[in-house]
Amino acid sequence: MNIEHIRHSLAHLLAAAVLKKYPKAKLGIGPTIENGFYYDFEVPHGFSPDDLKEFEAEMRHQIKEGLKMEGEKITPAKAKIFFKNQPFKLELIKDFIKEKKDLSIYSLISSINSSLKTINYFSDLCRGGHVDNTNEINPEAFKLTHTAGAYWKGDEKQPQLQRIYGVAFSDKDELNNYLKMREEALKRDHKKLGPELDLFIFSPLVGPGLPLWTPRGTLMRDLLDSFVFELRNERGYVRVDIPHITKKELYEKSGHWDKFKDELFKVKSREGHEFAMKPMNCPHHIQIYARKQWSYRELPQRYASTTKVYRDEQSGEIGGLSRVRAITQDDAHVFCRKSQISEEMSKIWDMIEIFYKTFGFELSVRLSLRNPKEPKKYLGTPAHWDESEETLRKLAKSRKVDAPEALGEAAFYGPKIDFIAKDSIGRKWQVATIQLDMNQPERFDLTCISEDGKPERIVMIHAAIMGSIERFMAVLIEHTAGIFPLWLAPVQAQVLAISDKQINYATKVLNELLSAGIRAELTQSNITLGKRIREAQIQKIPYVLVVGDKEIQTNSVAVRNHKRGDEGTMPIKECIKKLQEEIAKKEM
Ligand SMILES: [Zn+2]
Ligand SMILES: [Zn+2]
Repeated sequence: MNIEHIRHSLAHLLAAAVLKKYPKAKLGIGPTIENGFYYDFEVPHGFSPDDLKEFEAEMRHQIKEGLKMEGEKITPAKAKIFFKNQPFKLELIKDFIKEKKDLSIYSLISSINSSLKTINYFSDLCRGGHVDNTNEINPEAFKLTHTAGAYWKGDEKQPQLQRIYGVAFSDKDELNNYLKMREEALKRDHKKLGPELDLFIFSPLVGPGLPLWTPRGTLMRDLLDSFVFELRNERGYVRVDIPHITKKELYEKSGHWDKFKDELFKVKSREGHEFAMKPMNCPHHIQIYARKQWSYRELPQRYASTTKVYRDEQSGEIGGLSRVRAITQDDAHVFCRKSQISEEMSKIWDMIEIFYKTFGFELSVRLSLRNPKEPKKYLGTPAHWDESEETLRKLAKSRKVDAPEALGEAAFYGPKIDFIAKDSIGRKWQVATIQLDMNQPERFDLTCISEDGKPERIVMIHAAIMGSIERFMAVLIEHTAGIFPLWLAPVQAQVLAISDKQINYATKVLNELLSAGIRAELTQSNITLGKRIREAQIQKIPYVLVVGDKEIQTNSVAVRNHKRGDEGTMPIKECIKKLQEEIAKKEM
């Protein structure tokens, strides 16, 4: 059974159920999405949880009725009459006519006594992809999960509709597994955990999509960035630095002015020159490469900057750290000869593997290629594209990985290898990418002098490891549920004295930890020990070191690990050594 057809059909059943209870509801659209479907409705009030239960019951009833789903093509005139009370459908019909698309309606039909009498339950404007009969749907394997406000056509100037979300699978077990995973995901939501762990905040005065990083959050970002740079250092990358605004002309030449049109934040100087906040770093690194004529002997040149880019995302699209307006990229570009592509890409691939495996992510890859049917969407010639795509295929093959090809997923300037990380609760996130670019070097006329003394066209490789630090932090918080590995935890150890009597000794322990380079804190003891331990638990601090009279006598600490619990009493020196080893190994 085609699960997409089931999900799509359920959206219609939902609309029919809503209309049964609220006959005046106006229907928006009802597409399928990952794991399910939604449908938008204009109603004078929101839907309650009881409403959702009623709709579900009605949908199960429709499934058991064994309604047939049948479609027919209709003329625009007929469609307009049919949907005369459905203003949003009328708008869609107008759009379809403008785009010269066929119009068809699909109906849910119950036939009593096969041919004698038919009852038309519900009809919808639709292009098909359904079950033939609702009895093909498993009534136990779907659920309406939640509602949310959504603007018609995603435009905040348009009416606000109520969106009902549903999930559907082929059997009950799959549904239950998904619901369990979702519940776990809500507990781990970075939007909730981030502020709780004091990592970042949003300020209404600064604006949506512009996170502010606290001392703890900033420390983590720096540690992550240093880790990436350690990997890069070993592979010949050097840091460069670039400004955040740039003249319009640079982006006209790079093609970004056209490509990012609506997403560019534009700035005008007092002299009337047009600038833009940079949406990308590539053209800047290109200018640094182009500062001199290179010999083939000096290639590759590998430039890295951890820097922000700015995109004017629409308010409706912004949420937590996953989609922001100021994005920090750990960006790098390799300028090299064609003959060096495989080796350079392979080095980037190595870094990505080391980086993500350190956190226990399972990685898979996808080759994102162009859609040959839409040549206008891409810069450069088909010959360039064929060549670059073939290079990527060969590389994936040489690394012996399964690399499915996704047509139409390439960047406008070249094909990519996309890396997908599976997190601890089974969700998949697109993370790093390696992009081969034969177009920008052409546009900016980038060359090196080859063995025969003539200029040779070079290529560039875009190579971010985290991609966006904000997004990576979001994924990492949810992957670890905020229990970070020791090397990354903002506070690694909390020293607790049982009572004031031991405060001098506790301070001595704290100082020894600090001078050994361990991020430690000492909480004053005017709160009960139990409360302080609980607070450290909530803050997910990896180690709590408790000291009492017994520990003073033996110059030791009682060690408690956040995940593993009590680990016994040990001399301070031994405890420090244990923590340092765990940090050095970047243990998960
Ligand atoms: Zn349909
Ligand atoms: Zn780039």
